[in-house]
Amino acid sequence: MRSIQFIFLLGIVVFNHQACGGTTDRKKITEINSIEGMVVDTTKEKTFSLNPVDTSIQYIMGKFEPSEDSNFIEVDIYYADRPGMFIRKDVYSAFVKMDSAAREDGIVFQIRSAARNFEYQKGIWERKWTGKTTIENGEKLNETTPDPVQRALKILKYSSMPGSSRHHWGTDIDLNSFSNSWFESGEGKRLYDWLEENGPEYGFRQPYTAKGAERPDGYNEERWHWSFYPVADILTEVASRHLKDSMIDGFKGAETATKIGVVKRYVLGINPQLLTE
Ligand SMILES: [Zn+2]
Repeated sequence: MRSIQFIFLLGIVVFNHQACGGTTDRKKITEINSIEGMVVDTTKEKTFSLNPVDTSIQYIMGKFEPSEDSNFIEVDIYYADRPGMFIRKDVYSAFVKMDSAAREDGIVFQIRSAARNFEYQKGIWERKWTGKTTIENGEKLNETTPDPVQRALKILKYSSMPGSSRHHWGTDIDLNSFSNSWFESGEGKRLYDWLEENGPEYGFRQPYTAKGAERPDGYNEERWHWSFYPVADILTEVASRHLKDSMIDGFKGAETATKIGVVKRYVLGINPQLLTE
């Protein structure tokens, strides 16, 4: 099992306790800079330099504007399928390095989605909830699925509830195609195999691996979704301690979060290698 050493974990815990003490301000973890803002992955003997990581619940739940956050940067169109996407700066520089190595091997990444805040995710969720957007099999959920829990579970096959998405964190990106089958042959398979082999070197791993005994809960497999684990692991750890189903609110169907157990089953229902022991 992988072991990660968080040099500044103590700072995070201390600050997060304060954040949970009733204040609604976002708390910047400036201690990270003073302890050099590094994460050491002891199994890989790798060190990653990080920008300050905000571990407040507001940040974890995507209740901020990435375009106005100094730790975020817009993804250049060279790497993306459209302008206007934002990502954490430390994640972006790791991605740019990885992209340049991949291009030497004939692999070309295209970012299809990066940071999405609560409001953006709410739009995705409610369009599916109301049937404005059909889900992957063409179903309009307002017509086929009146039961709220069942309706939410159908959306949760591939989409997060607002407030519970890793895309809120600026650490996660969707690459090239939203179809698992694209990654099973030809160009897609070459790209996926390259990422599996080389992604971790740059800090990228797949959180939504195949479902099975190892990963019984959570979203279906997403071969396109890659996570910058040096930051995302910290935020996963904080979420496991402080994010509660009852906090997930403010959109159609939010009352199902507690019945489903969204934090345990979905936020923590990831590739077990990305969960710290
Ligand atoms: Zn994704």
